[in-house]
Amino acid sequence: MENKQRMKSLIRKSVLLINPYVPGKPIEETKRQLGLKEVIKLASNENPLGVSPKAINAIKKALSGINRYPDAQGFYLKKRLAKFFGLIPENFVLGNGSDELIDIIIKTFVEPDENIVTSESTFLEYEIVAQVNDRKVKKAPLRYFKYDLNALLKLVDKKTKLIFIANPNNPTGTYVNREEVAQFMNALADDIVVVFDEAYNTFIDVNDYPDSLSYLKRKRNIIILRTFSKAYGLAGLRLGYALAAPELATYMEQVRQPFNTNLLAQVAGLAALDDKVFLKKTRRVTLEGKNFIYQQLSRMGVGYVPSIANFILVDTGTDSREVFKLMLKFGVIVREMSQYGLRNFIRVTIGTLKENQRFLRVLSKVIKEKTR
Ligand SMILES: *Cc1c(COP(=O)(O)O)cnc(C)c1O
Repeated sequence: MENKQRMKSLIRKSVLLINPYVPGKPIEETKRQLGLKEVIKLASNENPLGVSPKAINAIKKALSGINRYPDAQGFYLKKRLAKFFGLIPENFVLGNGSDELIDIIIKTFVEPDENIVTSESTFLEYEIVAQVNDRKVKKAPLRYFKYDLNALLKLVDKKTKLIFIANPNNPTGTYVNREEVAQFMNALADDIVVVFDEAYNTFIDVNDYPDSLSYLKRKRNIIILRTFSKAYGLAGLRLGYALAAPELATYMEQVRQPFNTNLLAQVAGLAALDDKVFLKKTRRVTLEGKNFIYQQLSRMGVGYVPSIANFILVDTGTDSREVFKLMLKFGVIVREMSQYGLRNFIRVTIGTLKENQRFLRVLSKVIKEKTR
């Protein structure tokens, strides 16, 4: 015990204060622990259709080359991205998932005495990574489950350097629209960097979603984050990218590790970008699944927050940690939201039709049991 204390005293204070990120429970672990044969995971917003076949082919071809270091510049992937967006390769920074880019961004822009503004009940990595880097985070409350950009503005002070906006927000699935972002950008001083984290942009089915790229083109200090983890089905390979002005991107390039994106991720990302068929199917299955789940939840009298992403925040009307545990016993992994300050909510990823049906069956059973 004494030894344990002595070792603990070696750890930096800000690290001791971290509220660790709790990942979605893995399928294999759940099967093992509960002795279950069939487990479905709807907890991490992954692609239920698997991996883009084009990406798999590219990975197979590249596999025998992994004795070599990856291309430190990510030359081909950046070139392809540049063409895709009508930009230049210097506009892009690749990351080992967009998670890593959050770290790179904080390290590149925020001085030790400066702060970061974001929302409550948003992607937890912003705060965790800030804390690891000893940077202060100020959080505005959500308004009706949505980022309240006016409340964010009110938190901005002379020491604010960076603002994180998850759009759509994870875990609520809500978004700030074009008009709201326009007003926000108008009101904001230009010496603050705004990050629009658009991990779910491929699922969007609304007309008033903001065109964040237009702010980049108008030379505003913004960074857009995108990922291959969700719609492209490459979460396990770890690949994301940032779009920024070359004047900013060049310094992020200096902060990142030289080989942060691996060789297989680079070729897979390149191939997945061209897999329109897979992307289209993913989008269709997600949107159909979303409507199906909405319908069934309404029939069951269960509340939910309308989402423009591939997940739905569901109001279980009771302690979501209990609901999570009971659902797990029936082989359905969802995410309980207590860590996000949403005690009665679970977040469920939209799966295949079969998975959605099973989720709804189990949820209905569990809620009945809890409220009997
Ligand atoms: C899933 C997610 C990401 C992280 O994606 P990776 O590229 O897998 O690191 C980033 N931001 C939000 C809001 C997410 O939900």
